[in-house]
Amino acid sequence: MTLKTLLSAAAVLMGTAAFAQPKVIAHRGYWKTEGSAQNSITALHKADEIAAFGSEFDVWLTADKELVVNHDRVFAGTDINMEQDKFDRIRTIHLSNKEVIPSLDEYLKAGQYVDTRLVLEMKPLRDVSREKIAVKKIVKALRQYHLTDNTDFISFSLHACRLFHEKMPEVDVYYLNGDLTPQEILDHGFAGMDYSMGTYRKHPEWVKECHDLGLKVNVWTVNSEEDMRYFIDLGVDMITTNEPELLQRLLAEREEK
Ligand code: MG
Repeated sequence: MTLKTLLSAAAVLMGTAAFAQPKVIAHRGYWKTEGSAQNSITALHKADEIAAFGSEFDVWLTADKELVVNHDRVFAGTDINMEQDKFDRIRTIHLSNKEVIPSLDEYLKAGQYVDTRLVLEMKPLRDVSREKIAVKKIVKALRQYHLTDNTDFISFSLHACRLFHEKMPEVDVYYLNGDLTPQEILDHGFAGMDYSMGTYRKHPEWVKECHDLGLKVNVWTVNSEEDMRYFIDLGVDMITTNEPELLQRLLAEREEK
């Protein structure tokens, strides 16, 4: 058991965990603000400027085995495919804020100078061997930039989560796909679950079960006030949202009460 797990287990025993406010994670960075764009380096800085606890972003492996930051497999409005095209072609893409689509290298370089936590999502790739290459490269890059203490790894790919955890056990892993129980998450050695709103609405008991096992709970993508209030009341540890400032306002109001 890690020190972190012990401390969170102690917090549960002392009853403090139940009253802790969830932490705010900006989904694809803070992009719904002037001059920003989804998964841009600006969006990382904007998340940091508003003191979001974390800033999430998505990572692909290109055809020539470079890592790039983008959400969709095919960049909207083009035929450029993150897995099938080479890095040089992908780099011709400009985001809506005119930034060139970032390499993971550039993103992590910027990540060295922010306080916001990096929530790195590795996209499921088309085969296991490519996932192995991507995990290896991500592990190397996190070491290179000394970011192991300020990064969480998330993925819909159980294979990628398991492999990453094996190679870099000091970094917390959260599984996204919604199909593992809290006990199964614990058995894989992950830090917690990061599931959709719909999954927790079906299994609200998983939040307490996770806490009882010393696991953390993150939920995505929570954008309306109503949903935010539901998940704050449910006692999740982190909320991933496209509206980080709205969530911060709601949490501040609750703090005052
Ligand atoms: Mg993502």
